[in-house]
Amino acid sequence: MKAEILTIGDELLIGQTIDTNSAWIGAELSRLGFDVYRIVSVHDTRKDILEALSNTVGKSDLVLITGGLGPTSDDITKQTLCDFFNTHLVVNAEVLKMVETMMKRRNFPMNENNRRQAEIPESCRVLKNERGTAPGMWFENKGTIFVSMPGVPHEMKYIMTEHVLPELGHRFTSQAIIHRNIMTYGMPEARLAELLTGFEADLPPEIRIAYLPGSGIIKLRLTATGQEKKLLDKSIEEQVKKLYKMIPELIFSENEDSFEMVIGKLLKEKKQTICTAESCTGGRIAQLLTSISGSSAYYKGSVIAYDNKVKIEVLKVPGTKIEKYGAVSEEVVEEMAKGARELLKTDYSVATSGIAGPDGGTEDKPVGTIWIAVASVKGIVTEKHLFWYDRISNIDRFSTAALSLLRNQIIRR
Ligand code: AMP
Ligand code: MG
Repeated sequence: MKAEILTIGDELLIGQTIDTNSAWIGAELSRLGFDVYRIVSVHDTRKDILEALSNTVGKSDLVLITGGLGPTSDDITKQTLCDFFNTHLVVNAEVLKMVETMMKRRNFPMNENNRRQAEIPESCRVLKNERGTAPGMWFENKGTIFVSMPGVPHEMKYIMTEHVLPELGHRFTSQAIIHRNIMTYGMPEARLAELLTGFEADLPPEIRIAYLPGSGIIKLRLTATGQEKKLLDKSIEEQVKKLYKMIPELIFSENEDSFEMVIGKLLKEKKQTICTAESCTGGRIAQLLTSISGSSAYYKGSVIAYDNKVKIEVLKVPGTKIEKYGAVSEEVVEEMAKGARELLKTDYSVATSGIAGPDGGTEDKPVGTIWIAVASVKGIVTEKHLFWYDRISNIDRFSTAALSLLRNQIIRR
């Protein structure tokens, strides 16, 4: 089954908006066994949209379209679809009601633009959008399915998950496809691939492996394809077990579970608490930990000890240590972790002190240097890392490294 993704919007072509819709849709369709063979992005012009639609004829079984469904004059996808499918807009009573309810809820009066949202091509089936005013539209034409959805990512995802994916799965998949994502941290992609050369060579024919690196984390995706789901489950499970045996210290979770999710689960299970003392990460670790719903059960708070004065006065780091070793040092980061844990009375504390750059590096402490400490009843452990990115990416890597050390301490006996 061949599929094509068509994203519409000037903002995509001038680099103002990154086309995350295609990436997300591509992943979902391939999971269902579709061969996504082309992604096309075009301007909000009638000519370009019509040309892109014509190009799908005879090539794709499925065309998923996002963008250009807004209520303003620059959004012309709906009218253009009418032209392409030789149909016309009619007011859809159900959609009109929904738009009215939504505007009422937001305390806005209905205007002409809102009313136009309820005009739908006559030949399509409406896919309800509970997240916004523009519904999805399902067309079938000469054996090809076209689905048009709004560009706003969470609205598109809602329509895809609620309506499109279930129907496609139901109608088209005979092949079973299963994925397992093994999340690893602590070894660069090239070295990991080298380490797993033998593993890859021994994979059974129904299983493929992909390395998906991002921000220091490498996702190993195993995909099994075949007729019998039960056999695939068994086969993939065997390979996952093998991986756990080969690289136990690198695997921190499965599927898309992040460090902060894993840490949250562990702390909840153990009924333990945590706090943070952040210098160079400026609250990033706190932000990650609190992005998990329910984190109030284990996360107590943070001291953003950016200035040495805060390190000394709030975290009780001895000023003499800062003078002697510098703020970015094992000695100071240990004191920060200790101070925060005593101040906020938690089971664990994690502290960071480093140089995010681009300024402030020295020969023995270059930009990208970070010291991390985790304090707990098991003692204080520290780690030093050196990264080589820009400021924002360094802060990102620092935070991941800190969370990794924290997780290792939580699971340590
Ligand atoms: P539209 O449905 O064209 O009015 O799009 C509404 C908003 O959704 C745009 O302003 C973009 O911020 C966002 N958007 C549109 N297309 C995409 C896309 N392909 N990927 C990510 N965001 C998008
Ligand atoms: Mg648009």
